[in-house]
Amino acid sequence: MASTTSDPDGSPTNEAFHLLSNETRLELMQALWAAYDPVDEEPMRFAELREEVTADDPGGIYYHLDKLTTHFVRRTEEGYELRESGKRIARIVLSGTAIDDPEIEPVAVDVDCWYCGGQPTLSYRDGWRYLECTSCEARCVDSFPPGVISKNEFPPSGIRDRTPNEINEADRIWGAHRRASVMDGVCPECAGNMPIDSIEVCDDHRPDWDAYQFCEACGSIFWMLVSHVCEGCKYRWRLPTLFYPTRHPAAVAFYYDHGTGSSSTSPPTSSGRSSSTSARSSSRPTRCGSGSRSRGTARSCG
Ligand SMILES: [Zn+2]
Ligand SMILES: [Zn+2]
Ligand SMILES: [Zn+2]
Repeated sequence: MASTTSDPDGSPTNEAFHLLSNETRLELMQALWAAYDPVDEEPMRFAELREEVTADDPGGIYYHLDKLTTHFVRRTEEGYELRESGKRIARIVLSGTAIDDPEIEPVAVDVDCWYCGGQPTLSYRDGWRYLECTSCEARCVDSFPPGVISKNEFPPSGIRDRTPNEINEADRIWGAHRRASVMDGVCPECAGNMPIDSIEVCDDHRPDWDAYQFCEACGSIFWMLVSHVCEGCKYRWRLPTLFYPTRHPAAVAFYYDHGTGSSSTSPPTSSGRSSSTSARSSSRPTRCGSGSRSRGTARSCG
């Protein structure tokens, strides 16, 4: 497998961090990002860039610009512009998505709890969007506090200029696309290979569907969980098999081998309730499974 990050010295990763560790270079990157118009790309001339940085020694500014052209910046006849790698860095670092840490206090949103039909609230903290039911203590996994019916990794940029209902809807759409990418084996973070890493099956699965509580034996309300890990960036995502109706050959084969037709699963919905009492053949509406970072501390249901 090709790797661009394992070389301890002079690796592209180290070089990238080194490039951004200088104030003038950061200011230059910021100036190029501020001037960048995605519809009408126009390079910045040296004279324009010079006005945007604190340093005033042209030789020094030129030196730092030249350094940046090794990775993030391109020099053209008309001036300087960000390369795609520079834009990616700018989107993550300079736009604040990576370090912003906003919070939203619990506020009611227009969805019904898919366990009890009650009123959930939306909140946001530490980069996670929570839906918490005010009427029940549902726990689909043991890592969730009681009542948290859904928890999803969602970037701070996604909450800007949106009402709580709009955030909830954006999160649903964004999550669905990313989940589809994971199920098809393509990492939604880096586009690397993201094969199935493991399939966990509970041998003694007894969740309490009436109280909406996870099974003590496996810590999940779901009988079977599929784990994908990205070979490139270590991004990990675990999701219940009900998201795989005939989607992935490996999952289909697994169902077949275990005598469970994949038609017994159904796409998740966010409302209504079925009378099924077995997770193994459940068509109980559930929204579960979303991204968790590679440390595996969080599994999410939403
Ligand atoms: Zn509820
Ligand atoms: Zn179990
Ligand atoms: Zn990845």
